[in-house]
Amino acid sequence: MTDFIYINNPARIIFGAGSSQRVAEELKTLGLRRALVLSTPAQQKDAERLNDALGGLGAGVFAHATMHTPIEVTEEALRTYVELGADCVVAIGGGSTIGLGKAIAYRNDAPQVVVPTTYAGSEVTPILGQTENGEKTTVSAASILPEVVIYDPELTLGLPVSMSVTSALNAMAHAVEALYARNSNPITSLMAVEGIRALKEALPGVVRQPESIASRSTALYGSWLCGTVLGTVGMALHHKLCHTLGGSFNLPHAETHAVMLPHTAAYNQVAAADALRPVTKLFGGQLGSGLYDFAAALGAPLALKDLGLNERDLDHAADLAVKNPYWNPRPVERDAIRALLQRAWSGLRPE
Ligand code: NAD
Repeated sequence: MTDFIYINNPARIIFGAGSSQRVAEELKTLGLRRALVLSTPAQQKDAERLNDALGGLGAGVFAHATMHTPIEVTEEALRTYVELGADCVVAIGGGSTIGLGKAIAYRNDAPQVVVPTTYAGSEVTPILGQTENGEKTTVSAASILPEVVIYDPELTLGLPVSMSVTSALNAMAHAVEALYARNSNPITSLMAVEGIRALKEALPGVVRQPESIASRSTALYGSWLCGTVLGTVGMALHHKLCHTLGGSFNLPHAETHAVMLPHTAAYNQVAAADALRPVTKLFGGQLGSGLYDFAAALGAPLALKDLGLNERDLDHAADLAVKNPYWNPRPVERDAIRALLQRAWSGLRPE
């Protein structure tokens, strides 16, 4: 046993089918009286239903949450918050909606109750990514961490299969990187292995039968664990590459994580062999190719070229990825990263 520091983020987690009916009770427990309910335009109806179910505790709906949390949208939401006399936010949706709730809380310390409907994991991290004039910045603060998270697998039944798969691979990527994080510790490693195990077990069932509450529950449980480790320890090469590809080439978030994960895991699998051993075993002894075969069997996207990246951008992407690299168990070398990107672009199985 080596020395470690473990930080436990103070969030209240409620898990179970039908648990989203407990939002009003949770607001009352926190002494809150008027919640601004947040969603994307696509989930406006769900947000309105929730606002209605809150009765007098629902102040109204703001349904303009957008990918990458643009500051203009946050400012508009803050105006609505004041106009409606809200004293807290309830975010129902994926990382985009949760990001808006965090952006509001970062500015006015609003308490947040979050009802996640994807597997991205943002609800349990004190991290906020936002964009201003097209530039993405990331901040971390105690006010950003939601107070209450209500995981209701029933709300994930309608998450399309393709999004379920990519979102779950996004979650697994948090846990793979948590295992070899420089500040990893025995608790986050337990959570990471269990999160990956749960998602690996659940996903084939989600694909076969998207309305299976058993598979959806196991998947959501896994995503909670993976999100928790994302919010607790540092991320490495995989997240740096995905942030570069998303931020500079506008590639879609979850799909990019899904394509890159087998390649970044393969890149680090020898340097971090001890830390990765429990999950390497889960994927048949070779983590990179095992993850690739798993993703392929689920119908996940496998090639960056299919996400809209031009081959001529690979050199620039490699340059950006090695500039200010995150700490990584294997040195981040430009030629090796360029080769990794080429394989990921073509959709080849990692060696
Ligand atoms: P998303 O929130 O952008 O959702 C994608 C689309 O799916 C939206 O239109 C949404 O309304 C819809 N949707 C969500 N759940 C649904 C459901 N159950 N049924 C039907 N439709 C549904 O996607 P995401 O991948 O969850 O989040 C991505 C964003 O979150 C990115 O901006 C990323 O940077 C951020 N993120 C942040 C953190 C963090 O810790 N700060 C962690 C993970 C992701």
